[in-house]
Amino acid sequence: MEAITTGPRDRRRCRVLGIPIDVCRDVASAAIALHSDGGGQIVTLNAEMTMRARRDSDLGSVIEAADLVVPDGAGVVWALGRQGVKVRRSPGIELAWSLLTFAAAHGWRVALVGASPDVMERLLDRLRAQFSDLQLVFAEHGYQQPTDWPTLETRLQTLRPDLVLVALGVPKQELWSCSQRQGLPGIWMGVGGSFDVWSGLKQRAPEWTSQLQLEWFYRLLQEPSRWRRYLVLPRFVWAVLRCGEQRR
Ligand code: UDP
Repeated sequence: MEAITTGPRDRRRCRVLGIPIDVCRDVASAAIALHSDGGGQIVTLNAEMTMRARRDSDLGSVIEAADLVVPDGAGVVWALGRQGVKVRRSPGIELAWSLLTFAAAHGWRVALVGASPDVMERLLDRLRAQFSDLQLVFAEHGYQQPTDWPTLETRLQTLRPDLVLVALGVPKQELWSCSQRQGLPGIWMGVGGSFDVWSGLKQRAPEWTSQLQLEWFYRLLQEPSRWRRYLVLPRFVWAVLRCGEQRR
């Protein structure tokens, strides 16, 4: 296996089924370095999103243009391994928490967008208790009336935060972040269900499920309505296996 040894700003852009993914030694350092480089968008890629990006050209273009694409799922790590690229999984929820911790320690101005009103309220209580120094300059839930979004967006653009965490689900959070961050500094990152977990309203899958690569199954038990989304996983495995066959 090929090992990757890089500094914080170096990364190697690889591809899984044609979708870009960045391999770097220290993902958190690479993410923080984006800030001093004038900002950027971070995408956390998993198998489901890879398959979606192959059929949704808007999402595909946003991932292509992203400044850092992180291997969030066991499936993409496995697919990279089949290419001889050794990489550790970087769960988006952990990277986002590292950025939030860094933001609190360094006086970054933080914006949070997304999740239900109830989740946002509990999240704010928890964050204020945990990080007394966190500069939260913007916090809005993700179920606004369509007519309210333009005002919120203008306010956010005027604030020019250092870090914007967006929990609107895939692909909305990636497309919205890309459209909003144009011409702005700061790090923008889609965080999926992270606010639900940080607020305490949902449990993160235990470590053993992740070690057995069964995190998806735990999430399915918590939210049975997700079953349809997971039908794509065997198709991902098949496509990666076929891709290897074609290369031989
Ligand atoms: N969400 C939102 N507005 C919407 C749709 C979704 O704020 O219009 C939130 C939802 O409440 C949840 C997050 O987006 O907090 C998506 O979580 P999910 O676990 O589905 O993320 P994914 O698996 O898509 O990364």
